[in-house]
Amino acid sequence: MLFALCLLSLSVTFYACFKNPITGRSSINLVSESEMRTLANQQYASFLAANAPQKGTRDAEMVQRVGSKMATAVQQYLSSIGQSSLVSGYQWEFNLVNNNEANAWCMPGGKVAVYTGLMPLVQNEAGLATVVGHEIAHAVSRHSNERASQQLAAEFGGQALGAVMGSNPGAASQIFGAAVGIGTQGALLKFSRDQESEADHMGVIFMALAGYNPNEAINFWTRMSAKGGAKPPEILSTHPSDQTRMNNLRKWIPEAMKYYKPQ
Ligand SMILES: [Zn+2]
Repeated sequence: MLFALCLLSLSVTFYACFKNPITGRSSINLVSESEMRTLANQQYASFLAANAPQKGTRDAEMVQRVGSKMATAVQQYLSSIGQSSLVSGYQWEFNLVNNNEANAWCMPGGKVAVYTGLMPLVQNEAGLATVVGHEIAHAVSRHSNERASQQLAAEFGGQALGAVMGSNPGAASQIFGAAVGIGTQGALLKFSRDQESEADHMGVIFMALAGYNPNEAINFWTRMSAKGGAKPPEILSTHPSDQTRMNNLRKWIPEAMKYYKPQ
C-alpha cells in the first residue's frame, strides 16, 4: 500500500517517500516541510499567547536545559551522518506550560511544550529527556507530515497539498491544520502505533546522544504506565501496549548504548 501511494505521489508531486535514516522506515510525505514549519510556528505562537509559559522556575529551567541539550545533540548527530536537512529551518523552543495533564509535544520545526502535569512523573533530567527525545523524534521523523499525507491520499488520491488547496481550500486547510495543530482538547493529532514505536526507538538514541542513560527510559515509562488505569494519560492513549513497548525498549537499548557518553 505504501509503495503504491509513493508511486502515485511521484506522478503528481515533488514530495513522495521519506525514508527515516535511523530506523529505515519509509513513509509518505506529500506536504512540504517548510509549509509544515510555517503553520506550526503560527500555531505555537498562539498556543503560548493563550498558555503563558512558566519562566524562571526550577522546572521551567530544567525543561530549557534538557531541551537544548537534546536539540544540540540531535543536530550534531544528524549533521555527522549527512542528514542535517531533517532539522533545517528548525527554531527550537522548549516551554513548560501550566496544565494538569501528563503530556508533552513537539511540533514540526522544533516547537516543544511540556505540561506541568508531567513533571511529577519525570522526576529527573533523564526522565524528562525520555519524553523530550520521544517527542522530538515524532517531529524529526515527519510524522505529522505522514498523517496529513495519508489523509490527502485517502481523500484526494495523493495530490500535493498545494493542488488540493487550489481545488478544495477548505478541506486542505483542515487536513493541514489537524496535522500540526492543537485541537480543542489541547492535544495534537493522534499518531499511529507504528509512529509511536518509531519515536520510542529514536527517542532512546537521542537521549543517549545527549548524555542521558537510555535505561532510564524503562523507569520513566514504568512510572507512566503505573499512572494508567481507567483514564490513561493522553501521552499513552495511542501508544503500543505497555508490554510491547517495554519489550521493544529493551531491544533498542543496547543499540542506544552505543551512542551513550555519560556526562
Ligand atoms: Zn508519541
